[in-house]
Amino acid sequence: MNKIQGFYYVNCDDGIHECKLRGILKRRESKNNCVVGDIVEISDDNYIIGIDERKNLLERPIVANIDYFVIQFAAKDPDIDLDRLDVMLLRSFFYKIKPVIVINKIDLLNESEFEELKTKLDFLTRLDIPCFFISKKENIGIEELKAYLKDHISAFGGPSGVGKSSIINMLQSEKVLEVGETSKRLRKGKHTTKDTNLLPLNGGGYIIDTPGFSSVELPDIKTPFELMDLFPEFAGRERCKFNDCHHLNEPGCKIKEAVEKNTLEKSRYEFYKKVYEKLKDERWNKYE
Ligand code: GDP
Ligand code: ZN
Repeated sequence: MNKIQGFYYVNCDDGIHECKLRGILKRRESKNNCVVGDIVEISDDNYIIGIDERKNLLERPIVANIDYFVIQFAAKDPDIDLDRLDVMLLRSFFYKIKPVIVINKIDLLNESEFEELKTKLDFLTRLDIPCFFISKKENIGIEELKAYLKDHISAFGGPSGVGKSSIINMLQSEKVLEVGETSKRLRKGKHTTKDTNLLPLNGGGYIIDTPGFSSVELPDIKTPFELMDLFPEFAGRERCKFNDCHHLNEPGCKIKEAVEKNTLEKSRYEFYKKVYEKLKDERWNKYE
């Protein structure tokens, strides 16, 4: 945790407050009692007196409440690796961080190639996942992306060479966090610190530096049912014949039916099966 000599830096509407943690919160639990990204309540004498429930918590680095996992690819050079995109989606659902897709370098495509790409990524719209087509080089779509990330904490991931550093450098603010005035009222703010891997954005908000997010390793999914839960498009459908259907070779499987009827993306289902087999071979069998 990045607190500095016992101080916590809380970003409120009126600036950054240097705060201490109230004793009772210190004792509450272990080292994770107040972490970067926590939404906290502070008193008029700048003590942290409450911590809101977290929507997610990342371990390395320790940070809570990440809003977006920005999964970046390039339209070309390198080409999009859909398998890798699927793994990163799986990771973001696993960590309960909303995925946002950014496709950079669209300047390298002609019109028909661009249309083709959009069709290929159409399944994202059906999953309610925002997708930004941008060109850093020709300054296309940058303002829209900026507006979306504003006032949120975003983690970036993606293969190398797609323009991540270029984009992050451009979004990043030069401004150094300053310590604000003390205040008289009870207020709420986000705990941040000066010396972290939280990079302030020039439009407001932060990018969290999490190199591990570009990893293609499968997360620690323990059971087939946990895996199914990471496919949002499996939810809200008719029930399969068997309650404990794994959607593989069981009769009366509504997921397989949906693939045949084209109401569920075949590539996503194929990806599900592939991950299922891999986890079964490499991990689940060991628990039996
Ligand atoms: P990273 O490895 O993902 O951090 O990628 P970099 O930011 O290092 O960029 C890789 C290469 O892509 C560099 O040569 C950039 O100049 C180039 N690049 C970045 N953005 C664009 C873009 O919008 N269009 C084109 N054509 N090239 C870009
Ligand atoms: Zn089924």
